[in-house]
Amino acid sequence: MTEKCGVVGISLDGRPASRPLYYGLYALQHRGQESAGIVTHDGFQQHSHVSMGLVGDAFTEGDLEDLNGSAGIGHVRYPTAGSVDSSCAQPFSVSFKSGSLGLSHNGNLVNAAEVREELAGIGHAFTSDGDTEVIAHDLARNLLDADLVRAVKRTMDRIHGSYALTISHDDTIMGVRDPQGNRPLCIGELEDGYILASESAAIDTLDGELVRDVRPGELVVLAEDGSGFDSYQLVDLDDTAHCFFEHVYFARPDSVIDDSLVYEVRRNLGRKLWAESGVESDVVMPVPDSGRAFASGYADAASETTPGGADRPEDDDGVEFAEGLMKNRYVGRTFIMPTQDERERAVRLKLNPIKSTVEGKSITLIDDSIVRGTTSNQLVSLLRDSGAAEVHMRIGAPPIVAPCYMGIDMATREELIAADKTVEEIREEIDADSLAYLSTEAVADVLATDRTDLCMGCVTGEYPYDIAGEETDRPVSRPTIEAAMSADD
Ligand code: AMP
Repeated sequence: MTEKCGVVGISLDGRPASRPLYYGLYALQHRGQESAGIVTHDGFQQHSHVSMGLVGDAFTEGDLEDLNGSAGIGHVRYPTAGSVDSSCAQPFSVSFKSGSLGLSHNGNLVNAAEVREELAGIGHAFTSDGDTEVIAHDLARNLLDADLVRAVKRTMDRIHGSYALTISHDDTIMGVRDPQGNRPLCIGELEDGYILASESAAIDTLDGELVRDVRPGELVVLAEDGSGFDSYQLVDLDDTAHCFFEHVYFARPDSVIDDSLVYEVRRNLGRKLWAESGVESDVVMPVPDSGRAFASGYADAASETTPGGADRPEDDDGVEFAEGLMKNRYVGRTFIMPTQDERERAVRLKLNPIKSTVEGKSITLIDDSIVRGTTSNQLVSLLRDSGAAEVHMRIGAPPIVAPCYMGIDMATREELIAADKTVEEIREEIDADSLAYLSTEAVADVLATDRTDLCMGCVTGEYPYDIAGEETDRPVSRPTIEAAMSADD
């Protein structure tokens, strides 16, 4: 089951961890809104509270007080496949012979069914259909006859796919990042302890300092007294497969992921977009909020050079950057739209044009991505209905042509507008005057020195793991995951 989620783990010197975990989850709310949970350990006993809904609704003051202990993990979840049901809410917790285990997972295993079958065959009973329980059971089995580090290594050898995990084994808190570093995970230092979190924004929220990213294939074990952490590089592959879409869409702009500030990455992608496909217009306008950083970079570059790349003459002010769509922040996912007519009305409820920047203007509308094409289609028609003279669409990522199997809720291939249409056909469908996407080369250029260190499966169809029915060759010669993982314990 694919899960786009947020994970956190905290170990403090005596102070209860529940409230910092709660604040950390608040900072990661954008990574999942379906359920929220915290598992703590007080040195004797594990405590757990997991509930459906947003972080603010999932915990009462009393719940946080009952979560005793200065060590714990937390999770926000947005399920992207399978049923929406509380049995998959996390952290997953289990008690067994050698102690208690809590597990928070962001990512997607590609061999979960196989591992589940094997474990079920030796008597493990499963209560959910999620990947996380599979990892927890495998780890619990390995902990019966191996120390913590060896047990984690064995589990990493067995599971394939993307995973950023925070784990509690009694009051020991750990973080593990999959060998290709597909999903983000970082370490932060707090005043009286350490934190592991999907994104550094959670560390900032707690007034902590980002120490560094957890390395691909690394296990980080936080000291129980909050004094530090140990690192174990359990798997070491030549290439990584960092998800580029984290930088483009998913992560908060104020987070630092794999050493890059997401906001600046998006601005740089916007600058590239101008260099590759800039078009003169009266106004550069972001789709709120997803297009904002891209549009700011695009407009900056547009004020320096002409679409052909020449310096702008002194008396040419270039393009104006302006907001033209006002968002109603209170229209959430729960908005009920039973008929197509009402679904179309939804866009008017969510976004209203600002007349002064739209009427009679030629507009370049900037967004981070087009998935199904619904948003761009509705926005172009909204701007036209509001008097826009021209609407040019520029997108800060390449066309999404294939599904994500690595943990981002995208869409099925049938739903992806770019899966079987050319850019010109898409332009026609969304009724824009022109449409251009950013190239994969530009994304790789901004994000990494080496294209082979990125997972761009959704825009290239080349995945870092074998996926049944998909072409997975990546344009590099690299060790297979099985070969690299068969190294000695
Ligand atoms: P669509 O209307 O399906 O083309 O979706 C495009 C819009 O959804 C853009 O404004 C994106 O910022 C946003 N978006 C992109 N990827 C996702 C995702 N995985 N989940 C939810 N929204 C997304």
